Amino acid sequence: MNREKRTAIFQRLRSANPAPTTELVFSSPFELLIAVILSAQATDKGVNKATARLFAIANSPAAILALGEEGLKEQIRTIGLFNSKAKNIIETCRRLVSDHAGVVPRDRKALEALPGVGRKTANVVLNTAFGEPTIAVDTHIFRVANRTGLAVGKTPLAVEQRLVRLVPTEFLKDAHHWLILHGRYVCKARSPDCPNCPISDLCEYKEKTMALPCARSRTA
Ligand code: SF4
Repeated sequence: MNREKRTAIFQRLRSANPAPTTELVFSSPFELLIAVILSAQATDKGVNKATARLFAIANSPAAILALGEEGLKEQIRTIGLFNSKAKNIIETCRRLVSDHAGVVPRDRKALEALPGVGRKTANVVLNTAFGEPTIAVDTHIFRVANRTGLAVGKTPLAVEQRLVRLVPTEFLKDAHHWLILHGRYVCKARSPDCPNCPISDLCEYKEKTMALPCARSRTA
């Protein structure tokens, strides 16, 4: 895909949604970090329900440590893998307090050193809490980047590195959210909505879906 097409794709995604953001509800870098840890293999909606309960009683590392692992589990037990997530969150809070004065670090290496925080989570926090031009390649972005031809790659890291290199600078900061939302609602895994896709004429996917024939033409 050439630069003109890539630019046109992001211009269209920007016109449709000038200020995209995450669907996770948060009011501080710490809340976002916890929500992202909880979101592995869970829906944003499910995470938001649990964090609404949790953050009402504990939204700082010290407060979650005071809840303890069992107390934390009580608040997040509706979320898949809550046992291991609770363990990681407690240990993460302990390290935030002991190593970072209770503050989420704006630094990839320090973030990735926290339990339950991998490259993807660090990228989300750096981008969404701190405004860094990082791109966290999840299943949606991986699919959209490969299908459209925006950034073809065999692994999430390869796609991330290509996107960071190829997305025009003016779109880099918001590219993450435009691509996730596009993958979640339009370029869906099983049935991409190509007939209603705003970038269909720019997308290089070879197996685009067709519009269903209308009732009249079916009966004609
Ligand atoms: S045209 Fe289809 S495959 Fe291409 S981005 Fe749009 S929905 Fe996805």
